[in-house]
Amino acid sequence: MTRPILTAVLAAAMFVQSTAASAQGTFIVRDVRLFDGERVTEHRSVVVRDGVIAQIGDATLAAPPRAQVIAGRGRTLLPGLIDAHVHMSDSVESNLRQSLALGVTTDLDMWNGGARLERIRALRAADAPDIADVRTAGTGATAPGGHPTQMGGGSFPTITNPADAQAFVDARIAEGSDYIKIIYDDLASLGMKLPMLDRRTLKAVVDAAHARGKLAVVHILSEAQARDAIEAGADGLAHLFTGATVSPGFAGLAASHHVFVVPTLTVLYGDCGEAIGARIARDSLLRPYIRPAVREWAAKSFPPMGGKKSCDGTRDAVRQLARAGVPLLTGTDSPAPGQTYGASVHGELELLVAAGLTPVQALTGATSAAAKAFRLTDRGVIAAAKRADLVLVDGDPTTDITATRRIVAVWKKGVAVKRERYAEQ
Ligand SMILES: [Zn+2]
Repeated sequence: MTRPILTAVLAAAMFVQSTAASAQGTFIVRDVRLFDGERVTEHRSVVVRDGVIAQIGDATLAAPPRAQVIAGRGRTLLPGLIDAHVHMSDSVESNLRQSLALGVTTDLDMWNGGARLERIRALRAADAPDIADVRTAGTGATAPGGHPTQMGGGSFPTITNPADAQAFVDARIAEGSDYIKIIYDDLASLGMKLPMLDRRTLKAVVDAAHARGKLAVVHILSEAQARDAIEAGADGLAHLFTGATVSPGFAGLAASHHVFVVPTLTVLYGDCGEAIGARIARDSLLRPYIRPAVREWAAKSFPPMGGKKSCDGTRDAVRQLARAGVPLLTGTDSPAPGQTYGASVHGELELLVAAGLTPVQALTGATSAAAKAFRLTDRGVIAAAKRADLVLVDGDPTTDITATRRIVAVWKKGVAVKRERYAEQ
């Protein structure tokens, strides 16, 4: 057993010991730095009861009778993190368990179908405390032969013209889609040339989603595609794009249409020769909680598809969008090569800050902004009556973003996650 893993096991064991005699479900995190999803305040105390935030006060706030008391001094309490772009692989429960152990309490799946979609729906309904909560786009809208048909894995319905949009969307909602995902990309940026939806069909699917009160989230990988999606009325972009430059007016367009953007820098950077998957997967604070079966995959990097690109324009776009007030959410596209559930969120946060966001802006995108964008009104902030989906870390991620990895405890609906189980494997 390596030293960091041993330390993690001991810390977890001590944490469990100190909680053994407490009243079921009631605890106070005392005298902690609080990032409530939007703002940072010092010397706060937070009481959790029956799975929700019951009270927030200063360092002297009285503990309820028999409440477990958790020391907050030198630590920061955050809302549970939200990964706004994942795809559940076959081992849905394991993916969600890994996410949760690494502080991600909600995963937003951006394409799935068949038996996996059924499993996701069942797990979503159960909302068990030992796995991350999940929402899903189900099967997205794409042209026959369009992305992601080239990835194999069974056939699924496609769409060819605007007249079919409402029926297509209604069928997806009947299957359990929480929001509608649309592919608007021929993968030319990756050296391919696949069929893709035309602009009229793109707009018709967006309108059809809106007619049923659902969000429309669009996969794009170029600025031109992004502009079309924004002008078609998309609610959000599921990626940013690579390139040496971005047009000066791009963020203005995004802001005027009130879209949110999930940059997924951690996966885009692979095409710019800047992949960080290997470093994240070997980080001693993250590695013990990544399932052994996927550790190798998480550390993988592949030669850029369609030639190596520049991500300078990607970084410019991030800064431009942040200045324009466009919500920038945290998403990883796990399990894309070099990405894995939970761990890659910490890498994406690091990359967003390196691109120019403040740590607080990055953390807002992983918490309150993501909840707001996806209309998850019960979470994303630490406020009275909200779900007690919480992460306690050592240090101050609001000034050093890498401190999100120094996880002391994770709670889902007020139930402490048994993280030590991961460190033992
Ligand atoms: Zn994706």
